[in-house]
Amino acid sequence: MDGKQFDGKQFIDGQFVAGEGSVEDILAPATGEVIARVAEASAAQIQAAVKAAEKAFPTWSRTPPKDRATLLLKLADAIEAQGADFARLESRNCGKPYTAALNDEIPAVADVFRFFAGAARCMTGLATGEYATGYTSMIRRDAVGVVASIAPWNYPLMMAAWKLGPAVAAGNTVVIKPSEQTPLTLLKLAELIAGLFPPGVINVVTGRGETVGAPLISQPQVRMISLTGDVATGQKVLQAASQSVKRTHLELGGKAPVIVFDDADLASVVSGVRTFGFYNAGQDCTAACRIYAGPKVYDRLVADLTSAVSSIQVGGPDGQGVEMGPLISEKQRQRVASFVERASREKHIEVTTGGKAGGGGGFFYAPTVVAGAKQEDEIVRREVFGPVVSVTRFEDPAQAIAWANDSDYGLASSVWSQDIGKAMKVAAELQYGCTWINSHFMLVSEMPHGGMKRSGYGKDLSMYALEDYTTVRHVMVKY
Ligand code: NAD
Repeated sequence: MDGKQFDGKQFIDGQFVAGEGSVEDILAPATGEVIARVAEASAAQIQAAVKAAEKAFPTWSRTPPKDRATLLLKLADAIEAQGADFARLESRNCGKPYTAALNDEIPAVADVFRFFAGAARCMTGLATGEYATGYTSMIRRDAVGVVASIAPWNYPLMMAAWKLGPAVAAGNTVVIKPSEQTPLTLLKLAELIAGLFPPGVINVVTGRGETVGAPLISQPQVRMISLTGDVATGQKVLQAASQSVKRTHLELGGKAPVIVFDDADLASVVSGVRTFGFYNAGQDCTAACRIYAGPKVYDRLVADLTSAVSSIQVGGPDGQGVEMGPLISEKQRQRVASFVERASREKHIEVTTGGKAGGGGGFFYAPTVVAGAKQEDEIVRREVFGPVVSVTRFEDPAQAIAWANDSDYGLASSVWSQDIGKAMKVAAELQYGCTWINSHFMLVSEMPHGGMKRSGYGKDLSMYALEDYTTVRHVMVKY
């Protein structure tokens, strides 16, 4: 059990303490083996974590931004120094290729902490001035208070960074709960935090949504709840938040449309979807999963994509040349399989590659292309969160835009055309938090990531995230 050192650990008020709740088996999705057992936090431990964050808040929120920034920069350096260990643990616990964790995720995690270290010192706002004669008005942007952060399992360390970076940089204190399936890298991060941050500024409690997440977000001292998760979980968070009118920040699911015009560079589209539809085994809220192809390019796109996707190398985290790992759990694999199974029963649909589970003890599912899908099909409308891409033929641009926007979700989208003017016009009409042109999935710390509609609201990354974790205050002086 290589996650064994974390057995039973909670990180509360600067101390590691044994969890007092029930014990959760942590699995390696590539083999199904138990790699750690983590006892979740008890009700008393959740309260203690929130109280520690409340106690730390006055001092931390008054700590000058440059000093908060210094600690975030040191944390980024420490993560990088142990990047291989973090990547090994993350890839083992999530099943993703080790090289992807090491080369893509660890640098991105370090960069997020560095970005927010700098951002904390550069907040801007309305100028101080005399907006009424005899009065000087000024704007403050103050920390909100204790933030309860709830993270998902697809990118455990990165999602923790997206939540901790802006919250702590802005002067808030945090109690963060990782997914019950993937607590290991956040517990490892807590070891670095313990050596750098004052006790109580960041606390980690582990456990399931119902037993740890729900009581955490309901604590009266919690002033803000930040969730990345499912829409249904977002709805529960909103209900809980309504009891004491807490601020909420919700990053929920997605079903990204990919509009491919007849004049698109087909080779880039195929290589883009092969990468961005199947990265992290498609367990990504921005995954390029819902393709709309123009009438002239449709047949070639289906043929070329089918061949490209069937060449994706699937295997365990350490396999040579492996591009895609298993799904996170057997439950998730069954969910994905049932979507494809229902889709394949439709006469107009053809599963051109994949559509089957992999062998062995791991939770593998083959990279899958579902061609001939129609706008009303479940596979086009619902989030699969797995390695499955649907392709639908459209007749004209207006239909493509209408279908792309005809979704409950509004997180990410992309438009592919060599006519940039046309692509820009389409981008302006899309109802998504992000639109890429001739690309997909590219994120940078300086630019916001967040949704519209049921994908939620509030931004991760960028100055907008920092603002989301602050409250605007007006101070007026009579002279
Ligand atoms: P999930 O909603 O099941 O769980 C997310 C987190 O919420 C977990 O830590 C879970 O324990 C916790 N939780 C569950 N019920 C809770 C409750 N009642 N109160 C408090 N906490 C509770 O989601 P998941 O299965 O871990 O992740 C997959 C989902 O997350 C997908 O729908 C995906 O689209 C979404 N996601 C969104 C983004 C984004 O940026 N928009 C990023 C990653 C994942």
